[in-house]
Amino acid sequence: MEMRTKLYPMVQFKKDTWEIDEFDCASMFLLIGSEKAMLIDCGMGIGDLAGAVRMITDKPLIVALTHNHPDHAGNARQFPEIWLNGKDRNLMPIPMSAELRRDDIRHIARRQKGSIGAPYSMFRLYPFDLETDVLEAEDSGPIPVVWDLKDGQEFDLGGGRIVRAIECPGHTPGEMVFLDQGTRTLFAGDAVNYNLGVGAVLLRTTLGHMKKLQAMDGEYDGIWNGHHDFRALGAPLGEDCLPTIIDMMEDAAAGHIVPCESPSFWGQDIPLTKQDKAKKMFGGLPGQEPSRRVTLRRGRNWLSIDPERI
Ligand SMILES: [Zn+2]
Repeated sequence: MEMRTKLYPMVQFKKDTWEIDEFDCASMFLLIGSEKAMLIDCGMGIGDLAGAVRMITDKPLIVALTHNHPDHAGNARQFPEIWLNGKDRNLMPIPMSAELRRDDIRHIARRQKGSIGAPYSMFRLYPFDLETDVLEAEDSGPIPVVWDLKDGQEFDLGGGRIVRAIECPGHTPGEMVFLDQGTRTLFAGDAVNYNLGVGAVLLRTTLGHMKKLQAMDGEYDGIWNGHHDFRALGAPLGEDCLPTIIDMMEDAAAGHIVPCESPSFWGQDIPLTKQDKAKKMFGGLPGQEPSRRVTLRRGRNWLSIDPERI
């Protein structure tokens, strides 16, 4: 019997469209059509996400990942099949061991409590426990079948609900966003947010994809990224986010690069060793040294780039 918690903060922010919050880190999105349901991203693996989904819908479930980072793909083993762009297949192991995830989970818990140094368990804002709610990869069922997700691929959930996958490389080589035309929603994973790290491909290539997303803005009313750090749960990113990213990338491509202090992904000071690890994980994409990266800032937008890959 699955003992992990199913009590995620979650909100239905449009009809049959849910944001499920993995306790203030990754956001998963559940879209329900007349015949099938679709889960975008599967989180780091705190609690019983599959069980939580089953409390909302019993329709056949498609699981598609925006990219292969631990906070979006770490829980893949809870599902028999996932869709992932082949370009991200080897970024991180699938399944991923609990050891790779547990430190980050601790920091997630601490970040939201504003209490670095205090044990997360003193506060109990959320009903998860590191001992029972984070399983080793080998304990969570068979290895999932990984299907190759392609640019332009459409998922028909029934009742006219069609979700299109769009490749948007930069944060990772195979980063994908999903457009749900019926509800006019763009699910951006980590491709668009206020603290964006890119560098998996040339900056100009990413810039081209960002402009493509902007040109599609007649097809969506808002952008929901794969975390709610930069917005309230259920609410979209600010409308300034994507245009500011484009401005910053254009400036950088024109050679205007003024580095600033990089904010921590975890939102506040953390021990140096942890910062190094976070940089390695989120900044050190394959084939590049984390030390080459610089962070740029404009207002509330931060953009971390590799100046040697413009
Ligand atoms: Zn990511």
